[in-house]
Formats: sequence, structure tokens, C-alpha cells
Amino acid sequence: MAFLARLRQRLPLGRTRNNNDGDGDGDGDAGGNAQQQPSGSAAEEPPVCRICLCGDETAPLISPCKCRGTNAKVHLACLNTWRRASANARSLRECLTCGHVYDTRKSQLALMLDSQWAVPVATGVAIGAAAHVVAIIAAIVCGSIGNAATRIYHAMYLYPPWRNWTWAWAVRLAAALDTAVVATVLLGVIGFAHAIYIKYQQHPQHFLRYSAVPLVMLANSHGGAAVRVFSAIGLWVGYHSAFKCTRSLASYALMRWGETILEVHD
Ligand SMILES: [Zn+2]
Ligand SMILES: [Zn+2]
Repeated sequence: MAFLARLRQRLPLGRTRNNNDGDGDGDGDAGGNAQQQPSGSAAEEPPVCRICLCGDETAPLISPCKCRGTNAKVHLACLNTWRRASANARSLRECLTCGHVYDTRKSQLALMLDSQWAVPVATGVAIGAAAHVVAIIAAIVCGSIGNAATRIYHAMYLYPPWRNWTWAWAVRLAAALDTAVVATVLLGVIGFAHAIYIKYQQHPQHFLRYSAVPLVMLANSHGGAAVRVFSAIGLWVGYHSAFKCTRSLASYALMRWGETILEVHD
């Protein structure tokens, strides 16, 4: 939105410079009407972006459509922001001044992000990374991952069979299983706490009345079983929010790096 405000502030300046937009569509499309410009004035001045009026110091200027003269050049980032922000949906595909349909090419990344597996795989990777971080923090806080696991098994009234394994190779496997349990349970508890926070963000007093007391009573009367259920719900909720977050990041990346607008050459 800040970009739009800046754009609106700058447009009158741009129009003065460009002898008015002239296309009469009133949408402020920064395309201008360069075909009517005397070509000599553009040649004397260094080319500037038709949206932000800056030169090519920060980014290269491209000619994405058939507009020429002072409206010929634009920064790709400025054009893409305009395409997303414009009230006229046609702006996404074409220049409203000259009517040229932008020649776009999808990058390898865009093709990858378009695939149905991209978001689930990215979510899996994000959750795996979060699990590692949580396990490392638990190991630091409790002294070792084994100690952290012992505390969790104690809280959940669990005594997993691998705790009795004594063979050399099995001890290593048991440690890996301990780590997996610690990471899964802690991620579940964090996901659950996050869901509660989101739900009661506006009315924290409702949390005490409707959730905190019943939750404490449930944990008190059912101990490990309650923690197991909380963890399962929390993991589910946590996975969902990770999925949403990853999806919005993926669509941002698609717009930011996924698509290239090709230049028009005479
Ligand atoms: Zn620009
Ligand atoms: Zn144009």
C-alpha cells in the first residue's frame, strides 16, 4: 500500500513530464502515451523508469511493451508491483496504453512451484528443520536428549520398549527414537500453544474461562493421555499453519523470481 501511495504522489509528476497520460482510462496506468512524444527530448536525457522516475543505478531498465519515448523504460520490479496492485485486472497481462500483451517466461523455479508436490514437500522440510531445532534446544535445556526424553516419558506415563535395548547398534537406534519422540511431542505442544494463542488473541480472558481451567483439569485427571491428545491436535494444527505459511511464501517467490518479462525489440 505504501508503494501505491508513493505511486499516486509521483504520477502527477510523471504525467507532467510525459505531457499527460493521455489514455483517458483514469486508472493511472504508468504506460503514458509516448508515441506522441518528440523523440529528440528522450534522447537528450538518460532514460528513467516510467513508474518511479529513477534511472538504472539500482536495477536495469527494460522495455516490456511497445511504448516508446519517455515511457519506454521501466524497472521490472516496479512493473511487477504495478501489475499486482493495479485495480484493472488487465494490467497483469498487458500494457493498458499500447495494448501490448507482455511476453512472459516462467523460470525453472516457477515451474517447480507450480507442481502439486512443491508445497507439501516444502512443508515437510520446514517441519523437519523445526523438529531439529526443537530437539537441539531440548537437549541443551535438559543436559541431553536422553534426559529430555525421560522427562517426557515420565509426564506421559510411557516406558517405550527401546529403553531396555542394550546391544551396541540398538542403543544408537533407541537414541534416534528418543530424539524423534522429543521433537514430535514438543512440536505438538508448541503447535497447540500457537493455535490457542491465535484463537484467543482478541479475548485472552476467554482463554482462562473456557480453555485453561478445563485443560488443566484434563491434564490432571488423565495425565499422559491428555498430553498425548494435546500433542496430536497440536501437531495437526501446527502442520496446517506451516502449510499455509509455506504456500504464501511459495506464491510470493513465484511472483518475485518465478516470472520474467521479456523485452520488446523493434
Ligand atoms: Zn522503477
Ligand atoms: Zn505500453
